[in-house]
Amino acid sequence: MIDSKILSGNNIHHVKFAVINLMRLFKLAKIKRKNMTHFPKFLFVLAVLFCIPQVKAQEVNPNNQDVFNEFTYRQGNSYRSASGKPGPDYWQNAADYVIEATLNDVEHTITGKITVTYTNNSPEDLDFIWMYLEQNRFKADSRGSLTTPIQGNRYAGDVEGGYTIANLKATVKKGTSTRHIIDDTRMQVFFDEPIPAKGGKATVSMDFNYKIPVEGMDRMGRLDVAEGTIYAMAQWFPQVAVFDDVVGWNIEPYLGAGEFYYDYGNFDYKITVPYDHIVVASGELQNPNQVLSKTMRERMDRAAKSDTTVYIVRPEEVTNKSIRAKQNGTLTWHFKIENARDVAFGSSKAFIWDASRINLPSGKKAMAQSAYPKESAGPDAWDRSTEYSKASVEHYSERWFEYPYPVAVNVAADIGGMEYPGLNFCGWKAKGASLWGVTDHEFGHNWFPMIVGTNERRYAWMDEGFNTFINHYSTLEFNNGEYPSRLNRMRDATGWFVNPNRESIDTYPDVANLQNLGMIAYYKPAMGLLLLREYILGEERFDNAFKSYIETWAYKHPQPNDFFNHMENVAGENLAWFWKGWFYGTGNIDIAINEVQSYQGDFIVSIRNRGEIPMPVVMRATFNDGTTKDIKLPVEIWQRGNTWNHLIRTTKQLQKVELDPEKVLPDVDLANDVWNASGSQDQGK
Ligand SMILES: [Zn+2]
Repeated sequence: MIDSKILSGNNIHHVKFAVINLMRLFKLAKIKRKNMTHFPKFLFVLAVLFCIPQVKAQEVNPNNQDVFNEFTYRQGNSYRSASGKPGPDYWQNAADYVIEATLNDVEHTITGKITVTYTNNSPEDLDFIWMYLEQNRFKADSRGSLTTPIQGNRYAGDVEGGYTIANLKATVKKGTSTRHIIDDTRMQVFFDEPIPAKGGKATVSMDFNYKIPVEGMDRMGRLDVAEGTIYAMAQWFPQVAVFDDVVGWNIEPYLGAGEFYYDYGNFDYKITVPYDHIVVASGELQNPNQVLSKTMRERMDRAAKSDTTVYIVRPEEVTNKSIRAKQNGTLTWHFKIENARDVAFGSSKAFIWDASRINLPSGKKAMAQSAYPKESAGPDAWDRSTEYSKASVEHYSERWFEYPYPVAVNVAADIGGMEYPGLNFCGWKAKGASLWGVTDHEFGHNWFPMIVGTNERRYAWMDEGFNTFINHYSTLEFNNGEYPSRLNRMRDATGWFVNPNRESIDTYPDVANLQNLGMIAYYKPAMGLLLLREYILGEERFDNAFKSYIETWAYKHPQPNDFFNHMENVAGENLAWFWKGWFYGTGNIDIAINEVQSYQGDFIVSIRNRGEIPMPVVMRATFNDGTTKDIKLPVEIWQRGNTWNHLIRTTKQLQKVELDPEKVLPDVDLANDVWNASGSQDQGK
């Protein structure tokens, strides 16, 4: 999904100029130099003499052990190893779907039949499975409706929908059960005999129908435009919940902010629609000869060989029936996708349709497509959607992991931005930088969580945050920087970092205050990765580790600790202090220059960690001849306490010392980051 609030200028934290009262811990200038070879020991003795404050006898000063301690599970087990990989006994279950559905564009309903083949790879026999019936969110008495504020919010939805389920059959071997319990958005399906552990199979089939909501919680729904209705269809069929080694069944209800978590499987689905609809969907169209006219097929063939956008249905042809494969009745569009979490589709008679080729690193090709109404067309608007889609998918494939699906479709809908495997819904009024931004973001979700299959309903930061991070580089690269990316302007967000209503990244989306979701699910975790890449680990170590994480967990279900463990193992760094400080708390970074003193021709810079999160220190010394020297100090300087003295050996006069001269860190107090010999303090920007 796209964040509704983009970091705005209003968030800029204005720190008033402040004169720092320097704590004079050392009176070094008074001390005569005796012998440089004794310097370290000499300093140590001084530190002991001067640093221990006067305390009552029974009190013990805390040290920084807890800041650097291990946290949560780091030992690994046979399912998930300490190295951050799937362990030798790792398993996950699979669900394959065969669906036939009919869209009625008069009644606005979906009527379908589904057969799920479920494979139980777990070490336990399963007496039942849990399924999600997300359309049940759209009822007046659903948990989601009842937990939506009276004034509404982004995740409000229609209340006249909900599933009708009939003819349910749940079969293991020869025994067939019809027993099931529907509770809100979940359905428990029982079997006559358990699904055997380690590879046992069950099939569950049922008929379903529901009214398609207009407002589908900004993730699906209907939009009326001049030439017809656009149906954005997602959460549109019953799906099996995830059973895993961590919590068993993942059965959080569908309320609003929390998104989805599904196992991987193959989908074979047929959508029957009025003859004049165009259907675009996750996966590959199986029957182009039946649903596309000869003209459309020829254009599609041309698009498959073209790096520029080719119309399949031109703007002036939208209402032209002769371009369709049939001139009356219905058409059944047949799609397949393999190894996917989900499928979605868009259907409308109002679609302009265009496409071009996507070139993948292996030499394989895929297709970028866009479907949008004439209201969305324009040279600065959806006319460029396919160009954006192609660039986005090519970038992520080149940089992180090759795109696995045959088609990448962008559909204009009344939805800010929502992602499904190989298909997005993006705002039909979006233009220019915002259309690029939302298109790139939603396609980026193919990597998180479609390829790396995390639990969005609990850990939005593992998909939204990681995706927002990769979007930064995609945007910088697109068309030589046509549109800006501001993720690296982390200091613009320090107003939020000191807001008393802030929450931590690990807050579940359905728990988090909606005003915080943009930061805790998107920007703060993305900034965390940016800090790791551009400040803590460096690009090469980070990229090795992050790529390895994606490859290792592609089509699997990593937990937060698998990510932490994997990054540490491949990058070769214990980062517990960073995970704990940045991802699991509301603490902040605030490194300060306490004072700078001359010491026998050299200079001692005294720095202090005033924040809750320790950080390596980068500082730039500027000398009287205009030369500069950059100094990097490791995070371990903070292990024994929150003050540190660094000796700058020089024959020159020191003019200025500046912490974080490249302005990478979102340090919450910029007034204490710069020291000037002239005595004036200028504010780091
Ligand atoms: Zn998103």
